[in-house]
This record gives sequence, structure tokens and C-alpha cells, in this order.
Amino acid sequence: MNIISIIEKKKYGYALSEEEIRFVVEGIVDNSIPDYQLSALLMAIVLKGMNKDETYNLTRYMSLNGDQAKFDSVDGLVADKHSTGGVGDSTTFVVLPVIAALGIKVAKMSGRGLGHTGGTIDKLESIPNFKTELSSDEFIKIINKKGIAIIGQTLNMCTADKKLYALRDVTATVDSIPLITSSIMSKKIAGGADIITLDVKCGNGAFMQDKANAIELANMMVDIGKQAGKRVSAVVTDMNQPLDTYIGNKLEIMGAINVLKGEKNRLYEVSKVIASLIIKDALSINLQDAVIKVDEVIRNGKAYEKLIDIIATQGGDIGYIKNISEGNRYIDILSDSEGYISFIDTKELGNILVALGGGRMSLEDKIDYEVGLKMYVELGNKVTVGDRLLRVYYNQLDESIKNRVTNAIEIQKEPPQLNDLIIEVIQ
Ligand code: URA
Repeated sequence: MNIISIIEKKKYGYALSEEEIRFVVEGIVDNSIPDYQLSALLMAIVLKGMNKDETYNLTRYMSLNGDQAKFDSVDGLVADKHSTGGVGDSTTFVVLPVIAALGIKVAKMSGRGLGHTGGTIDKLESIPNFKTELSSDEFIKIINKKGIAIIGQTLNMCTADKKLYALRDVTATVDSIPLITSSIMSKKIAGGADIITLDVKCGNGAFMQDKANAIELANMMVDIGKQAGKRVSAVVTDMNQPLDTYIGNKLEIMGAINVLKGEKNRLYEVSKVIASLIIKDALSINLQDAVIKVDEVIRNGKAYEKLIDIIATQGGDIGYIKNISEGNRYIDILSDSEGYISFIDTKELGNILVALGGGRMSLEDKIDYEVGLKMYVELGNKVTVGDRLLRVYYNQLDESIKNRVTNAIEIQKEPPQLNDLIIEVIQ
């Protein structure tokens, strides 16, 4: 077997055999396939696709490569959730306390921000002393004692994906359904949870812009997860505007706390669906009853208490969380015209957060947890001259940021066609 014939085969659109896929994954891990040949293969996969068997084999061999989490010593089923990445996307901090408050075990392995999208670990590290690096023994001990623990992805898990992802990032080969499926599902399968719910974002702030593609991706991930023996469900949700009113590390924790204290907004709506899908599978009840349970633990304060418990257990400063508030260095961006909010460049808002210091340009960059944006408008809102559109929290403000924020919001005379927030639920 050799890599040139595998590239050639894919170039002409033929399906790769299990042995060929295994050969490729092993070649990535032992560095025997150079980047230029891998890049050619990745581009051939983007252009010619992969069928379900090929995608399953790629996912499986990538998941087997490196450490695999095992929760045999945890009593009961273990749940996990995953978002394909968005802006103002803090569902994790609503969903996890809600399901953990209902006694569902949660083993959450999370990543850092990627490009314009935020990362759970960065957001958690905005809480002073919160420990995101735990040994696997500590991780399991906390799950057994408290029902839930959250850690950063371990270095040794899915090494092929790490290499491939970095290569895809610089070869314009990220947006491929089989490649995204295998990248995400290999990590989820190696992550060891029994129940997995995926939030596939769709719109101008997501990796998937097109609805049909996002639905196809969600279906493919669910099928592959089920083939690997997991209970998997997915929801496709709109990302044509930030999900929460807040964008930024500390600010998004605040946004989630607001929902856990009863605020009903778009973040609540998406979190409710994700949590209900997990509850339905974990407690074997129907979806309507699961929704009632979500509202119950929010109303009686148990979900908020659980968030406090999670933070305290992992060393986070509870005094800080209880008194969390917006910073006082900000400027407001006002509307200079009258009309309807017709377009929000969501990806640009994510990039503006990075430019403010709230994300990384390179791996070594230190994050400024305080900075961020607060939305005062949503798509379809009517505004007049002088209305506040957005607030920018900063430490150092470059003049160009103001223009970039202003240009990210479009106002037109006619109201826009609005997208559904929940586009599709796949069970
Ligand atoms: N997130 C991942 O982990 N992988 C992808 O390919 C896309 C989003």
C-alpha cells in the first residue's frame, strides 16, 4: 500500500477501504506521510467526499489513536455535549448545571477558542483559581463524588486529529462534512461518554454557513456516533447572530448565570433543547417531560446551585462568581440611521473579541478575560438614530475597533426575513 495510490484513488472519487484509511491514520501518527501528501489527500476528500463507511472508519481509527477515557468505575450513564463552535455561545454553562442538577453524570472535555469562536476552557479560566487541568484519577473521582467534572482535552487524545486539524486550517480544507465529522466524533468517542448531544451551528458566525450542509453534517455525526455504540442526538441552530447578548470570556459566564437565574432569551432556548435531548436519553423519558425538568431545576434554583458547586469543587473563587459584574471601561456604539437590524456579521464580532484581547492570534497569546461585547439589538429590531447597538468592554481601545463594530451591523429600511433559532432536531 502506498500513499500516492490512495491520493490517486480519492482524486477520481473512489471509496477508500478500511485498510487504506488505517494506513493513512497510522501514517499521520508516525509521521511517515509528509504534510504535502496529506494536504493533497485532504483536498481530494474535500472535493470528492467520503461515504458513510469511509467516514466511520476514519473516525474510528482516529479515536483509537491515543488515550481513551473509560468511565467503568462511574455508576450510571455519562453524558457530554459539543458545539461545532459559535459566537456568544455559552450553552455549556447552562446545560451542564441543569443536567447535573438532575443527577445525570457529566464528563466534559472541552477545548480552547478556535479562530473567531470561543472555547469553554478559556471562559472557565476567567474564574480565578478554577482548575481545568486534572489528572484522569481526579477527573473520575470528582465525577463519582459530585456527578460532574470539566477538563481541557488531554495531550494524548486523538493525536491524528491534532495534526490533521492544524493542516486543514492552513490548506482551506476545514469545511468538509466527513473531515469535520471524523474530527469531532473521534474526540467524542475517545472522550468515553455514553450520551452525546451535538449543537451544530449554522450561519455567518459558524463553520457551516448553509442549512442543508449543516443538517447533513448533523445527521452524519449522529449516524457515526450511533454506529460506535453511543446514544447521540443533535440540534442544528442558527448562528447568524451571537447566541447570547454577551460575547467574551467572563461576560459569557455572566450571560449563562442570568439564564440559570431565570432570564428567557435565545441562549435559554438553545440550552433548553440541548439539555432536554440529554435528559431524555439519560432518564429514558419523552422530550416534553424532559423540557419540564429543565424549567423546574432553573425555577427552583438547583441548576444555579449546581454551577456554584462545580466551580467550588474545581477550586474556583465563589466570592468572585457571586459578585460577578460587567467592567466599567466601555464605549457604546450608537445607530447613525433609522430602520431594522438586517444583518449582523457574527464572525467579525468574534474576530473583534480576538482583536480586543479576548481570544488568541497565536497559541502563546495571553487572554484578557474582562474584554468583550454586549449586544443591545437582535436581527429584526427597529432602531432610530442614537439608539445603542452594542457596548464594547476594553482595556486598550484601537480606533479601528469602533469602525469595525459599526460596520458589522447593517440597518435597512425593510424588516429582514428572520431564520428559525432551532433549525432541526435529530434524535
Ligand atoms: N471542531 C473540531 O473539533 N473539528 C472540526 O473539524 C471543526 C470544528
